[in-house]
Amino acid sequence: MKRNRRVKILATLGPSSSDQATIEKLFRAGTDVFRINMSHADHDLMRELIKRIRAVEAAVERPIGILCDLQGPKLRVGAFKEKSVQLEIGATFTLDSDDTPGTAERVYLPHPEILAALEPGHRLLLDDGKIKLVVTECGKDYAVTRVEVSGKLSARKGVSVPDSTLALGALTEKDRKDLDAALATNEIDWVALSFIQRPEDLAEARKITRGRAGILAKIEKPQAVERLEEIIELSDAIMVARGDLGVEMPLEAVPGIQKQLTRAARRAGKPVVVATQMLESMINSPVPTRAEVSDVATAVFEGADAVMLSAESAAGEFPVEAVETMNRIAEQVERDPNYNNIMRAQRTEPEATGADVISAAAGQIAETLHLAAIICYTSSGATGLRAARERPSTPIIALSPVLATARRLAICWGLHCVVSEDAHDEDDMVDRACRIAFRESFSKPGQRVIITAGVPFGTPGATNMLRIAFVGSDGLGGI
Ligand code: PGA
Ligand code: MN
Repeated sequence: MKRNRRVKILATLGPSSSDQATIEKLFRAGTDVFRINMSHADHDLMRELIKRIRAVEAAVERPIGILCDLQGPKLRVGAFKEKSVQLEIGATFTLDSDDTPGTAERVYLPHPEILAALEPGHRLLLDDGKIKLVVTECGKDYAVTRVEVSGKLSARKGVSVPDSTLALGALTEKDRKDLDAALATNEIDWVALSFIQRPEDLAEARKITRGRAGILAKIEKPQAVERLEEIIELSDAIMVARGDLGVEMPLEAVPGIQKQLTRAARRAGKPVVVATQMLESMINSPVPTRAEVSDVATAVFEGADAVMLSAESAAGEFPVEAVETMNRIAEQVERDPNYNNIMRAQRTEPEATGADVISAAAGQIAETLHLAAIICYTSSGATGLRAARERPSTPIIALSPVLATARRLAICWGLHCVVSEDAHDEDDMVDRACRIAFRESFSKPGQRVIITAGVPFGTPGATNMLRIAFVGSDGLGGI
């Protein structure tokens, strides 16, 4: 099965999409990577979902990526005496360390580290930004605030503190347990870290994962945007997490940040996922709005690696239709006569490495000679990522002897991943590449392909060769 687009689709699983038949439908409709959201799934459900995704993978015979998204330090207020309280504009409201039920004057904030970090003038945004408070006075274990935007507040609503850098690591106790359980399955390809603030936040997760999963940093705090370059360097991928970004920053800042993030990730050659509210109205409607279609199209034109569905596929009434819609938009944008031009305006020059210059040359040769495919041998996945960084108009097949690499690369722009043993010699390399290009419907007999590899074979190392080959009448490689 071959997709007719280069951008990838991530779909979040949830109550609307947890059974195996629906997961298979979501895959067939276009999902390349499934996201399991640990804010909602317990360990048993996570393991069950993984089992079902892998059963679908076996049925469709294509590598599928699994992303386990950790909740991170999501901050919440405590409980109230009444069901909810009304916070009126101009009123004084205190957050403190007293764990008794709250009133319209005060509430428990079960996070001493926020109380310690707050300073007069800092903003607190409650319930996805619906209520806004500004600190007027504070001590070690309390903060007095003035209500700037009023609203109803109920128990356990989220709190964001966009002005304060918190003395919090990115992993909570729950995250550590979730991560251990996820890694213990040996089936997780990506781990997403929520609310990271600084490059150091990635270090602990990296120590725990020890290469067993790629690390995706969700950029959803202004502090993370400020230190973007360092964070990208220490991550394997990033997400433009527009949901929380739009709470922590003015909404109108988000589109510009999306551009900044996609460009920076593309420059680094690390996958970037654009997420949240992409087809939001499809939670309850079988058709999206014009604005949503345009939003998905923008991410595709920007050359993002992947676009993501959240509640649309997890909790909506039309999960399969949402994936189909995303797939159709992506296919249409990529056929647009302006697509290559716009998307490649942001291409950056190859770096001075063998993998980069060979990927750049392969893309250029393939275009000039109208070759059917670029076939790239990549065991760790590093060369596959560099090939995709070029954003060539010729399809790329990434061949890896490592199943985990093929699954992990499923998130990356333009890579059709196939698991295949390493070649023994050059003839075998050509035959194998041609056979796979033919079998996967990328080339017909008589067409030519270009192959990139590292010799000697079987020793992971830099890509150092390029070879143009004919696909023979039997699907095998000729000269
Ligand atoms: P979430 O992250 O869906 O886990 O909140 C994505 C976002 O904030 O956009
Ligand atoms: Mn988020």
